[in-house]
Formats: sequence, C-alpha cells, structure tokens
Amino acid sequence: MRLDRLLSNQNGISRQTARDLLHQGRVRVDDQICRDGLKAISSFMQVTLDHDCLQVAKPGYYLMLHKPAGYLSATQDPQHPTVLELMPAELREHLHLAGRLDRSTTGLLLLTNDGLWSRRLTAPGSDLAKVYRVTTSEPISPEAAARFADGIFLARENLYTRPAALQLLGPCQALLSIYEGRHHQVKRMFHAVGNRVCALHRERMGPLQLDPALAPGDFRPLSSREIHAVQ
Ligand code: URA
Repeated sequence: MRLDRLLSNQNGISRQTARDLLHQGRVRVDDQICRDGLKAISSFMQVTLDHDCLQVAKPGYYLMLHKPAGYLSATQDPQHPTVLELMPAELREHLHLAGRLDRSTTGLLLLTNDGLWSRRLTAPGSDLAKVYRVTTSEPISPEAAARFADGIFLARENLYTRPAALQLLGPCQALLSIYEGRHHQVKRMFHAVGNRVCALHRERMGPLQLDPALAPGDFRPLSSREIHAVQ
C-alpha cells in the first residue's frame, strides 16, 4: 500500500493532513524520515508517526542456500527430496523460492517470505544477471560466445533469448551470464550450439553472490545490506 494511503486510513488523518505530516518529516519508514507519499509500503516495513507506531514490521525471512544436486526446487514432492526439507521445520510453511534450479543444478538459491522482494529478483523485465558456471561434455566452440550474444532461438517459446555473456574458463568450462530465467535455459542454449551441459552451478543472482563459506546443503540469513541490494 502507498504510504499516503496508509496514513489517511488512520482515524482522524485526512488526505491533506497526511500530506502535511509527510512534508513536516514526522513520518518514518524503518526509522528513516520519509516524505514520499507514493512510497510502496510492504507488511515487512515499520511505519511510525512521531513516536506512535502505525504499523509493526512483520518478520521477514531472507535466506541463501547452497543447493546440493538431487534436490527439487519445490515445496513438496512424493519422489524426490525438496530444498524446503533443508530448511528449519518452523520456517518451511512461510518460505517460497525466489527462482528455481533444476534438480541436478547446484549453487545459489534464495528463499524468503517477502513476495515483493522475490519478484524484484525474478520479474521477467528485471535486468539482473544470473551467473552460472557451466561444465560441458565437448570443448566450447569459438562461435558459442557470439551466438549467445546474438540470442538463441527457443522454438517452444518462439522467441530469442536476450543477449548473454560467455566467459571461457577452460576448454569445457565457462561462466555464462543470462538476464532471464526460462525453463532449462542454459542447457537449451548449449544444446543449440551442439554441446551438452554436464554440470551447472549458479554463482550469482543480481547483486547476491553465493557465500563460498556455505557447503552444499548449508544456508544462512542474508545481511541487511544484501537484502537492500535487491532494488
Ligand atoms: N538453466 C538450466 O538449464 N538449468 C537450471 O537449473 C538453471 C538455468
């Protein structure tokens, strides 16, 4: 909800009074003075007027998991273990995934209960790079980088992938940065250039890098700086 609406929904505060209170710097969002009535307020933000709390912040959970191979990016599955099973039991029902990885893919997976935040990471129009370390069965051809930069045609969706950047690390290993997240996208892009992905590991999503201290299956809460880096 917009901040000006949240204020004018309070007893005794008209729209004009709300504008005045904002202008006078008497309204704080998460302890910072906010004069912007259009600011979107989520239930994870605290709003105060002078010393009165108008909205108590709901606890937000923001977790980084080093996904191991063999786990599904799903909440439950009759056949395979899911990444939710790696989370503390008391948090499971609150969390959703901010992006998915194939069962065989390892690396950075983010879980949260904040839908606005996860949409910023996964919205189709977001320009955030997702960086994968790719190991292939055949040497990566010199043309692959140019093909990925031009866009690869995906027949099922009838579209070209957005320009992607390939950085070779060795004959059969590279870092690939893509700016969207279509089903099996990396595997399909390599298939289109006559190669096969045999290992895939996500290192980064936008500003968030997988913490090298996390072993597969381990997770940790994001720092406040990491949470706010996702705009
Ligand atoms: N692309 C894939 O092919 N698989 C993943 O898990 C992620 C991106």
